[in-house]
Amino acid sequence: MIYQQVVNAINESSNIIITSHVNPDGDNIGASLALCQALLKLGKDAVFVLDDSVPELYKFLPGAEKVQKPDFLQKNSFDLLISMDCGDLERLGRVKDYIQGRKLINIDHHISNTKFGSINLVEENAAATAEIAYKLIKSMGIFIDKDIAQCVYTGIVTDTGQFQYSNTTEETHVIAAELIIAGVSPADIFNKVYQNNPKEKILLMKEALKSLDFHFNDKASCITISRSQLDSISGDELDTEGIVNLARDIASVEVAVFLKEKEPNIVKASLRSKSRVDVCAIAKEFGGGGHIRASGCTIEGTIEQAKEKILSVIQKQI
Ligand code: 5GP
Ligand code: MN
Repeated sequence: MIYQQVVNAINESSNIIITSHVNPDGDNIGASLALCQALLKLGKDAVFVLDDSVPELYKFLPGAEKVQKPDFLQKNSFDLLISMDCGDLERLGRVKDYIQGRKLINIDHHISNTKFGSINLVEENAAATAEIAYKLIKSMGIFIDKDIAQCVYTGIVTDTGQFQYSNTTEETHVIAAELIIAGVSPADIFNKVYQNNPKEKILLMKEALKSLDFHFNDKASCITISRSQLDSISGDELDTEGIVNLARDIASVEVAVFLKEKEPNIVKASLRSKSRVDVCAIAKEFGGGGHIRASGCTIEGTIEQAKEKILSVIQKQI
């Protein structure tokens, strides 16, 4: 029913903007590019607009070179916005300034989703938004070619931690199999996403690991990185995805935190848990959100202050 509502809204529109969250990852890029290509095949004028750059890592995905910045919305008319993989309006960045009075479809799988759309296709149990995008594209009868399949597969692989996390279901594997039938080479995607790091990314991990420490009987772990450490490796906004996993993947650890100094007194926190603690609840205390096992938030203060604040909330949950 909800899928039909989305399909109807798409059918009634011709200029469609697909958008997604800042700090992009494999799922929001993959899901958005997949849907964008599917809508182009349907004869729609579809453009993916994002208030951030596509991470270097995901530039191999078909359509990545056509992503536009929010100023595109100033200059071009459109009759429908579709937000992919975004839990709340703030995370749309500057795209948020263009949604007033617009028809907005919200397609997502975050438990913390604020249902900000005129139509909300939010499936908390979906492993990835790319999974929902796949089902939607299929339901519209659009042929899933290799390009679309690669985008969906990348979204699923990255959001399930390569099929490791508890969000991975039978359906996830069935969809993955269908994507392989559609032409995806898993080895090729894994090679591009996981065996293709710039050396600076690993040097950054080395630098960040120096700070690794443990709390609450080693049940919590924390890694931090300061602006000056980031700048010492490269002036660019480096990819820090995966650093929090180093803190999480330790036997005694239930909750792992990674704190990154984005700018003075602004700290971005990434939270992960393994089986018990709801890190979405912890992130929400700081105005963030995400999933039960993976969430994030922004905390004001120095790294030391942010660490103290977040550890005191973790202590209550652990
Ligand atoms: P990460 O730690 O990899 O940045 O994010 C983990 C999960 O939490 C992702 O699903 C991401 O969308 C979500 N998340 C990260 N930061 C925020 C935030 O500031 N607000 C909300 N609502 N979700 C976030
Ligand atoms: Mn996602």
